[in-house]
Amino acid sequence: MPHSHAVILLILIILSAIIGVLFGWFFGDLSLQIGWLGDLFLNALKMIIIPLIVASVISGIGALGDVRKLGRLGGSTLLYYGFTTAVAVFIGLVVVNIIQPGAGIELGEATVPERILEKQGTGASDIIMSLISPNLFASATEMQLLPIIVFAILFAMALTTIGERSKPVFAVFDGINEAMMKLVIWIMYFAPIGIFALIAARIGLAGGGEELFKEIEAVGWHVVTVLTGLFIHFCFLFLLLQLVAGKGLAYLFGMSRALFTGFGTASSTATLPLTMENARENNVSDKAIKFVLPLGSTVNMDGTALYEAAAVLFIAQAYGIDLTMTQQIIVFITATLAAIGAAGIPEAGLVTMVIVLSAVGLPLDGIALLLAVDWFLDRFRTVVNIWGDSVGAKVIDTLVIKKAL
Ligand code: ASP
Repeated sequence: MPHSHAVILLILIILSAIIGVLFGWFFGDLSLQIGWLGDLFLNALKMIIIPLIVASVISGIGALGDVRKLGRLGGSTLLYYGFTTAVAVFIGLVVVNIIQPGAGIELGEATVPERILEKQGTGASDIIMSLISPNLFASATEMQLLPIIVFAILFAMALTTIGERSKPVFAVFDGINEAMMKLVIWIMYFAPIGIFALIAARIGLAGGGEELFKEIEAVGWHVVTVLTGLFIHFCFLFLLLQLVAGKGLAYLFGMSRALFTGFGTASSTATLPLTMENARENNVSDKAIKFVLPLGSTVNMDGTALYEAAAVLFIAQAYGIDLTMTQQIIVFITATLAAIGAAGIPEAGLVTMVIVLSAVGLPLDGIALLLAVDWFLDRFRTVVNIWGDSVGAKVIDTLVIKKAL
């Protein structure tokens, strides 16, 4: 996308997000009627996700050309993502221990929804099981990207071992990838309207501004804790980026369209096409965009990890249960796993939180405390998830790929 278009679009997107908040706040009912415009935008993004991911991962690995290089890139990417996720959880734990948002909270009557209850008994082994799909098409229809990425990696690895005959196959996926990126640009022009409608309709659904304000107020310190933690982590990633690659502000500005789209859609998966396009405009190398970003969008969720740790401790505090150091270490480990297992879709983090709660023996009912504001906090943690992937792509690009692996 030409630079001038990108700047104008960003201004329009920022304005549309602000107007969306105001519109939803004051005209809640009316906002619900324009919600379909947001869904249209979201559907357009979702429409291209599966072909884009499959094509980009295969063509990215084709460009690496050598399984050893893939090992180096894959290994450093996972190590980096593991490290930043651990930092995020640590920040979450520190902030919640300092602010103590759960102290004195009234335990309400709200019930836990079915979608969460049915996850009872989910454990770490389920996350490993989810890597391999018995039916790729079923995974695709349910937007489970992780098994699809695993398949694409294995498929591309196999291709690299068959020499000449792999060339036309890689060429096909290169072409599909390029065409998909063109579609992303076309869809991006629709972003201001889509983001406006998504935000306005969601606030409308919450009953307009006054209702939203009341709900946030009820667990005010929890909201403050999570937002503070997310902000600190956002800055940590920014500093890391600045240290490794420099020009942090320019990169932040360049990635902003994807970040705002993440705020509007509450889905890092749906935003992935825009994240890839933005990273391309910001001179991140193709290999990082095609491999590091898709992988990050499914396994690297810093915002979600931070949120899960902070929310579980909040629930413990609300129930007046003191978690020991060992239990907090268990929260640390399971929150990291739960974030890896969470899909990049709205409020996925709330569902995988069951893993963390069960690991330390806390009542699942505690989730009811968070229900009303989860969609709101979800927007912010999605932004941090996307920022985490974007910084990851730039850092890996600078440290690993530009050094010729
Ligand atoms: N909505 C988040 C995302 O898409 C996941 C979550 O934390 O619920 O990245």
